[in-house]
Amino acid sequence: MSQAIEIFRQELEAIKAQGTYKEERLISSRQDREITTTAPSQGKFINMCANNYLGLGGSQQLVGWAKEGLDKYGFGLNSVRFICGTQDIHRQLETKVANFVGCKEAILYSSCFDANAGLFETLLNKEDVIISDKLNHASIIDGIRLCKAERKLYDNNDMAGLEQHLKDSQDKRIRLIATDGVFSMDGVIAKLETIVELATKYNALVMVDDSHASGFVGERGRGTPEAAGVFGKIDIITSTFGKALGGASGGFTASIHPEIIDLLRQRSRPYLFSNSLAPAITYTELKVIEMLEQDSSAVEKIQANTKYFREQLTEAGIDIIPSTHPIVPVMIYDEAKAIEIAAKLYKDGIYVIGFCYPVVPLGKARIRVQVSAAHSKEDLDKAVAAFVRHLK
Ligand SMILES: *Cc1c(COP(=O)(O)O)cnc(C)c1O
Repeated sequence: MSQAIEIFRQELEAIKAQGTYKEERLISSRQDREITTTAPSQGKFINMCANNYLGLGGSQQLVGWAKEGLDKYGFGLNSVRFICGTQDIHRQLETKVANFVGCKEAILYSSCFDANAGLFETLLNKEDVIISDKLNHASIIDGIRLCKAERKLYDNNDMAGLEQHLKDSQDKRIRLIATDGVFSMDGVIAKLETIVELATKYNALVMVDDSHASGFVGERGRGTPEAAGVFGKIDIITSTFGKALGGASGGFTASIHPEIIDLLRQRSRPYLFSNSLAPAITYTELKVIEMLEQDSSAVEKIQANTKYFREQLTEAGIDIIPSTHPIVPVMIYDEAKAIEIAAKLYKDGIYVIGFCYPVVPLGKARIRVQVSAAHSKEDLDKAVAAFVRHLK
């Protein structure tokens, strides 16, 4: 036994030697535009690294809904869905979220990671092929690993590469294109219009993981398919409740084909063998989506904040990756410098994280800033001024 533990200890040492050992900062407040940490006398920080796009994470309104949900539906269900874990609100949320993202049916999971883990092996076998963007999220990669279908990769957003794989795999029973809606290290949006065109041409299915878009990308916040003009045309959408839609936890798979959702309900392992989504979250998500259907102010605010922040940085000559998404990577390139700049910003009361190799390619280190609807103009101005101070 001690030999095994010694091996693990050495692996930890190696991670530390590489400089990729992750320390977790303790936050002593709610998730919000401003947070406090447990570090003594460091005061408050403007939080610019949360996926709190619509500012709902710390919202008192959501706390109120969650309390209502707790009172009405209880704390736990102590069951998977098909035994005694389905309440009326689970079915209502599935219908509501499906409609919200332009699909016919949806199925809930404990997380989007689970949604992706339970998707591919349920639908596909070794007669099939999955054509996947190289920058896809770890949960898509793992989901594909669990499946016997052949896997082909194309360079990020390389539509010619995708088309070549589609041409080469016409003998396969089913072709499935899998992509993130937004590539989260770059804030770059997938070329869904072209992907849907190619899928139609080569008779393939399209799967989009819209975790960094559901609720706020597109005119009504319905996600990347809306932004790309292909709303209602995506075969399969997976996404999370753990980002813009409130930030607690939970995920879903939605489809324009009811058969796909029905098959997942019969066979998807993380659905069949894992507990139901907690009632308070389910109830709150119903309210959140109803709110977003009726009130577009938070969506307008995040889009205006993003536009303003990107314009201010660009005018100041700060090097960012162009896009329209609230993930704004400020490119530093040098790994040590990225860590150093992030530490300086932290001292200035701005909480951001430097992303280095191996999370991003070597020599492409960056500070990934995330804008929220909760940020004020003053917050954004303060962040721009700090970047100018440290980088110019
Ligand atoms: C965050 C994220 C996930 C994981 O979502 P959880 O609900 O937290 O498991 C999956 N896919 C993508 C693209 C993500 O960004």
